[in-house]
Amino acid sequence: MSEKINCLDLKGQHQQVKKEIFEAFEKVYENTAFSGGPFVEMFEKDFAAFCGTKYAVGLNNGTSALHIAMLALEIGAGDEVILPANTFIATAWGVSYTRATPVFVDCTPDTWQIDIAKIEREITSRTKAIIGVHLYGQPFDIDGVVAIAKKNGLYLIEDAAQAQGTRYKGGMVGGFGEMACFSFYPGKNLGACGEAGGVTTNNEEYYKHLQSLRNHGSQVRYFHDEIGYNYRMGGLEGASLKIKLKYLEGWNQRRKDIARQYQNEIVNPKIKMQAQPEWADSIYHLFVITAEKRQELMSYLNQNNIYPALHYPVPCHLQKAYQNLGYKKGDCPNAEYLAEHCLSLPMYAELTDEEVNKVIEVLNNY
Ligand SMILES: *Cc1c(COP(=O)(O)O)cnc(C)c1O
Repeated sequence: MSEKINCLDLKGQHQQVKKEIFEAFEKVYENTAFSGGPFVEMFEKDFAAFCGTKYAVGLNNGTSALHIAMLALEIGAGDEVILPANTFIATAWGVSYTRATPVFVDCTPDTWQIDIAKIEREITSRTKAIIGVHLYGQPFDIDGVVAIAKKNGLYLIEDAAQAQGTRYKGGMVGGFGEMACFSFYPGKNLGACGEAGGVTTNNEEYYKHLQSLRNHGSQVRYFHDEIGYNYRMGGLEGASLKIKLKYLEGWNQRRKDIARQYQNEIVNPKIKMQAQPEWADSIYHLFVITAEKRQELMSYLNQNNIYPALHYPVPCHLQKAYQNLGYKKGDCPNAEYLAEHCLSLPMYAELTDEEVNKVIEVLNNY
């Protein structure tokens, strides 16, 4: 009986860096630098350099990043923000936390990213911003979205939670809009030993404002200029991220190699894959496929000890949390199709060649 192959397994990676990370934890401990502080600042510098942006602000998670990015743009009640229906729900939370309204746009039937042709019809006098999502680690059509944003005087925010190291036309994501929001949740390509997130930007004003918002609306201790939040990154998280960042490009390359193998060697016509435009350099946070009979394929894979996951089974516009917005089935047909037929294959850097080959072989025999 062979071992289970899961969609994601974090153990291998953390064994690999355990010694280094524990040494770093010891330094944090000796310095009692548990909240913000030098270990977070060192990571912020490294991460900004990695993204090619002037600034990075470390936070407690990626959802907070999306929230304070909206606040830094002064988005609030009465405003509308456009975002894809096919994304993890947190893309919309930041908008809702400010009392603004998320407006969902369908994805294309092949790249599964926001459909540029369907954005402009959703723009109203209340629209303030577009959040583009580099979903599954693949960049969205940035030039297409930038052109629409420019023409209509809208801000652009990148949700890069699944895209640490993703490139678009050769350029690293993180600096294409006003701000980019990252998650360092443990399961992301760059994940902390704990919860964490961050924002990158080239704009000093946003940078200063984000620093204040994450720290109780305060620049000078105990003087509060606005209502703020406690969204700081912890020192242990910052220290673990600084170390893991050194390995990120290598881990991403291994994911790309596995993806290339899936793309070239899975030849079963019952399985459809995400289209990869030539300008997209995905880091394959997820490797999503679709199949007409998803449940049947899922059971078959499980019988063969392969355990895929679903990203995501319900599109944002049909979530119960948003039923007050009045969306109905049929409003975003491509995102709905995907939700009903998607399945995420095992994808992480520590998969062995044998495991990858087994996934391919089992899928070809389906
Ligand atoms: C993970 C994720 C988030 C939220 O990040 P957290 O750190 O879990 O709060 C936001 N958007 C997308 C697309 C994500 O995948």
